[in-house]
Amino acid sequence: MSKGSSGKGKKIDMSVIAAKALELIKAAGDKGIVQSELWKKLGIDSKRGSRLVHHFLMENRITRRSIVVGGRKTFLILPVMRVVDIVDIEPMAEIPCFYCVDIEVCGRYLINPIDCLMFNDWLNRAAERWVSAEQEEKT
Ligand code: SF4
Repeated sequence: MSKGSSGKGKKIDMSVIAAKALELIKAAGDKGIVQSELWKKLGIDSKRGSRLVHHFLMENRITRRSIVVGGRKTFLILPVMRVVDIVDIEPMAEIPCFYCVDIEVCGRYLINPIDCLMFNDWLNRAAERWVSAEQEEKT
């Protein structure tokens, strides 16, 4: 995203506007946000807003649904929820199977998750963290 002029001589940082737009779209969730409302919240005009929406559509960050508001056709903008937006995948990076040299033979011969020390260590640590988190939530 580049910097642009607001048309009144004031420079706008479009990467900041784009980040804020994505935040607002994500926050709207399944309800979506009417595009004119989005532009209003961002403080940008329809020309700049349309370009931003087009950019997000090309990146597959949003979808649009045609709606009628006050007798006028417009668009409802909805977020495209990616797995990384919904699930915290960081803990999954610790799963030893992702880095295991035996993954292709695991489960077929003597190597299996039940007897695997690496897998069971990870599972025990994950269970301990889960129990601690549960206890913290209760206190
Ligand atoms: S269970 Fe153990 S042996 Fe099997 S893939 Fe995972 S880490 Fe590798």
